[in-house]
Amino acid sequence: AKSAGGNRFELADPEADARAITRHGLTTALPAALDRGEFFIEYQPLVHLGDGSVHGAEALVRWLHPQHGVLGPDQFIPLAEHTGLIVPLGRWVLEQSVRQARQWQERHAGPAPLRINVNLSPCQLTHPGLVQDTVDILEREGLDAGALCLEVTESALIGADDDLLKPLRRLAEMGVDIALDDFGTGYSNLANLRRLPVSILKLDRSFTQGMQQFPADPVDLKIVEGIVSLAHSLDLAVTVEGVETGAQAEQLRILGCDTAQGWYYARPGPPERLHELALVDAAG
Ligand code: C2E
Ligand code: CA
Ligand code: CA
Ligand code: CA
Repeated sequence: AKSAGGNRFELADPEADARAITRHGLTTALPAALDRGEFFIEYQPLVHLGDGSVHGAEALVRWLHPQHGVLGPDQFIPLAEHTGLIVPLGRWVLEQSVRQARQWQERHAGPAPLRINVNLSPCQLTHPGLVQDTVDILEREGLDAGALCLEVTESALIGADDDLLKPLRRLAEMGVDIALDDFGTGYSNLANLRRLPVSILKLDRSFTQGMQQFPADPVDLKIVEGIVSLAHSLDLAVTVEGVETGAQAEQLRILGCDTAQGWYYARPGPPERLHELALVDAAG
């Protein structure tokens, strides 16, 4: 650590130094990791709150690092965004997930085809290849555009101009669902929602946490109730994430939320797991 100005000294912070070294090491290792096939995807089911049936799954990327073991996206997505690797990595995630969804659909004859949700980083939104890449992948893998949902965080779209929204609009016109992820954390203007080509609001986990007590905090209940009624009046579906208990699921169902995701139903896991859940479902 360096000495600060005046007669003050900054204390050495070995942990911060170690973190910086790790960050640097991970950043330089990222491109090769993609070539070497060190990334893998876990899938977390999304269920209908009404009857608990499986609606689809969200794809969540992980990195099996040869030295550090399994790293979560929070540990490397920001680095991939910083270096631009997020574009090829994101394309790889989309391709794998779309292929996986197609396989589920082939093996699972439920009342409605299983759907796949894929996270999009803001860097991918501004990349000119987004629409064409998505069209190509859907065509190559033979998946209906209507079975794909792209999740974009609310903060990525705050103050978005038309140039940024154009690719999302085109995808929405093709039938791809656009979900506003982590909704409620970004202080966005609610009236602004009408302008965005989104069809799903994904309520941030913080709202779900407010439903832990039964009955929940009355103010939390009012807020979620308000968001759900606004969303439905704009023809948007509401998904909740981070549901960990049956009490949360029940209150969110009563409040009119449509679909849910969380450890209460299943942790993120390998693709076979979703297939098993969907099969149990189809068997009643
Ligand atoms: P997110 O999109 O908000 O995803 C939900 C996160 O909540 C996931 O963390 C998931 O494992 C976790 N989660 C699910 N159910 C529960 C629960 O009941 N309780 C709690 N406490 N947590 C739960 P994860 O997998 O670590 O992903 C973190 C973030 O990384 C994601 O947040 C998303 O923003 C980003 N991410 C993941 N995969 C991708 C990707 O392929 N591309 C991009 N651009 N971002 C990704
Ligand atoms: Ca997400
Ligand atoms: Ca989220
Ligand atoms: Ca999040």
